[in-house]
Amino acid sequence: MIPITSKLPHTGATIFTVMSALANEYGAINLSQGFPNFDPPRRLFDLVHEHMCAGKNQYAPMAGLPELRARLANKVQTLYGRHISPDTEITITAGATQAIFTAITALIRPADEVILLEPAYDSYRPAVELNGGKAIAYELSAPGFRPDWAAIARLITPRTRLIVVNTPLNPAAYVFDEADWAALSDLVADTSIFVLSDEVYEHLVYDGRAHTSILRYPALYERCFATYSFGKTFHNTGWKIGYCIAPPALTTEFRKVHQFNVFSVNTPAQYALADYLEDAQVYLGLPDFYQAKRDFLLAALQGSSLRPLACAGAYFQSFDYSGISDKPDAEFARWLTTEVGVAAIPFSAFYTSGRDDKLIRLCFAKTEDTLAEAAARLRTL
Ligand code: PMP
Ligand code: GLN
Repeated sequence: MIPITSKLPHTGATIFTVMSALANEYGAINLSQGFPNFDPPRRLFDLVHEHMCAGKNQYAPMAGLPELRARLANKVQTLYGRHISPDTEITITAGATQAIFTAITALIRPADEVILLEPAYDSYRPAVELNGGKAIAYELSAPGFRPDWAAIARLITPRTRLIVVNTPLNPAAYVFDEADWAALSDLVADTSIFVLSDEVYEHLVYDGRAHTSILRYPALYERCFATYSFGKTFHNTGWKIGYCIAPPALTTEFRKVHQFNVFSVNTPAQYALADYLEDAQVYLGLPDFYQAKRDFLLAALQGSSLRPLACAGAYFQSFDYSGISDKPDAEFARWLTTEVGVAAIPFSAFYTSGRDDKLIRLCFAKTEDTLAEAAARLRTL
């Protein structure tokens, strides 16, 4: 055997893979990995089938189907008031994970520093490190998870090349407001720092609030890559289709990498998504749809010893379990899966330091039957 020196020596299987496998092994209700347990709209299936039968089965254009990019440009204009060129500012990707990896690869060189706001989605740090960069963690704190921008400013050095933000935030469900964007804007003004804004949950913002996209802010847009996922919007995480929006010069560099790590993305699905996006109602109805699920879960857990945290967006409801157990969160999530029959994600998995505030995340993108059964099990605690 020729020895291989790992480029990610401290990385194992992701927490999502580990907890979903454990849920399957023990037959637990899987509220761990974030995916719906119901189907995407039937019309999307019919559209994919139609386009397959109509011969749309060969490579799509490298940047994505022009019809789909045009629809997305319209959506961005309507929702976020930004005019973007479908030709030079949008690229269709194999999910947001690939968009994030590609943007980071296009930008980060050895010794560059990248500031991450943790708890953070697990793909950011390895993407930085595989490119020789150094990830610098700023830890947001429970229960509010509001960024302290003055503290983040103190992490900036001459090597800082990128700040990664995620709103709505997975797992803590914090949603940026105008003040966050204004503070971030001040922070990067007169620097050459770029911003990666991961907005995969753009349509999942609750209680009458609106998603405040980075695309709204001209001073930030000129230095940004913004990433999105159809998986979150149309309940089809397994299709792995997303997109990246960035100004033309950044998109040019993005596509140089994109063309060599995927080249192009599933053709019939892109045609189907382009058709399906014709009706804005298909995404404008999502906040009500998911807010009802959040509220259903919270109501079903009334009287439980799990203390809910605020959930302003995304499809995760988090809980403080310190009233039930003093086990470390990873151990508690495991125990919950194997003994109580409900799989959860421990927050420590989202902190490089392994910070443990006795918090778990439950995904509520599930049918009411599933949520009711999970809540019944959790109320026994
Ligand atoms: N960013 C965040 C914050 C996520 O939660 C996820 C996970 N679904 C992604 C990116 C990746 O999205 P995709 O499944 O489209 O790769
Ligand atoms: N984003 C999903 C989550 O947070 C999982 C994605 C994955 O499994 N890689 O649960």
